[in-house]
Amino acid sequence: MFNVDKIREDFPILKRTVHGKSLVYFDNAATSQTPQVVIDTIVDYYSNYNANIHRGVHTLSQEATDKYEEARIKIQKHFNAEKAYEIILTSGTTHGINMIASGFASLLKTGDEIIVSALEHHSNIVPWQMLCEKTGAILKVIPMDEDGTLRMDIYHELLTNKTKIVFCNHVSNALGTINPIEEIIHAAHKFGAAVLIDGAQATPHIKPDVQELDVDFYVASAHKLCGPTGVGVLYGKEEWLQKLPPYQGGGEMIETVTFDKTTYAGLPHKFEAGTPNICGGIAFGAAIDYMNSVGFETIASYENELLEYATSKLLNIEGLKIYANNKCKTAVISFNVNDIHPYDIGSILDKLGIAVRTGHHCAQPIMDFYKIPGTIRASFSFYNTKEEIDVLVAGVKRATMMLS
Ligand SMILES: *Cc1c(COP(=O)(O)O)cnc(C)c1O
Repeated sequence: MFNVDKIREDFPILKRTVHGKSLVYFDNAATSQTPQVVIDTIVDYYSNYNANIHRGVHTLSQEATDKYEEARIKIQKHFNAEKAYEIILTSGTTHGINMIASGFASLLKTGDEIIVSALEHHSNIVPWQMLCEKTGAILKVIPMDEDGTLRMDIYHELLTNKTKIVFCNHVSNALGTINPIEEIIHAAHKFGAAVLIDGAQATPHIKPDVQELDVDFYVASAHKLCGPTGVGVLYGKEEWLQKLPPYQGGGEMIETVTFDKTTYAGLPHKFEAGTPNICGGIAFGAAIDYMNSVGFETIASYENELLEYATSKLLNIEGLKIYANNKCKTAVISFNVNDIHPYDIGSILDKLGIAVRTGHHCAQPIMDFYKIPGTIRASFSFYNTKEEIDVLVAGVKRATMMLS
């Protein structure tokens, strides 16, 4: 049985107060909180075996290397990648996307096409625009509907033999919509196009199986699933990772170096130049263990309960509008009340100890679609409670009264 009070004991930060009120943390889509086991892993690393990896013969270096490679295998198993060297450790989702976008520069020519969804985070738009400028490729956009879902009929029309890569997030960070990535991947493959899925927002709620999805690239950030910031994963199918050039030159990614010619190391090292975030990688492994010990099915069903509860309570507030209130979404509610600026409500909520995100959520094209400056986004995690949602609802009512 899922016991949220027991879960909350794992997260020391949930005990703190903000402006004299108990913290209500509803900004989980921006970053998640860190359980004690992950904090302990970080402390243990710096207290007991901090050393550079893959190079020393000494004991500390070997211990650190072993733990780092163990973490890679945990991540491999979690995503069900076929091979451990298809798991590249990155500094996060943004890094992973840039690695692929920049690698594709050598594979594209003028007139080739790239398809992106209208629901993207800026980090999944800008690198592709840069790629188009460099190569003369053309960017096409899958439009969205009022309810925050993608127009799949138009997607199928956009695909042609010129399409080289399609990218889409698994779950939208601004709205919480779960996108039909199976269909997106399957259809792109019929035209020989590669597919990159941004899983930053999906991985805290869903355990993706990259082999079953048959996805070419899948990226995520540790800090959104109870891990530390500055570390993430790029899964790539071996054949693609072999085809793409390295992203950065430096130590660790070479086999031999002379001034005439350098040969690159094999996977995954070809994409891991320089000293990585060793502690972060190990802590990422610990975070995945923790999440799996809670269980992704348990997490999804409890979060869904929170989502339904919060949705019905919030909709009782007069003038409150939820964007993309569709059936297929994770526990994210993006809303506004009348014409009140989201920032003003967010500031009052902060005074009440409630952390929400306000603004465009790095997804300005979505805000332009709804013709609004931004939204208030409350995003829930499995350590949140219905009592906290009651505090949010009362806070929104109070803010609305003060600002009307
Ligand atoms: C958070 C997020 C990103 C960016 O992740 P970083 O860890 O900042 O690199 C990209 N895409 C989506 C959907 C996100 O939610």
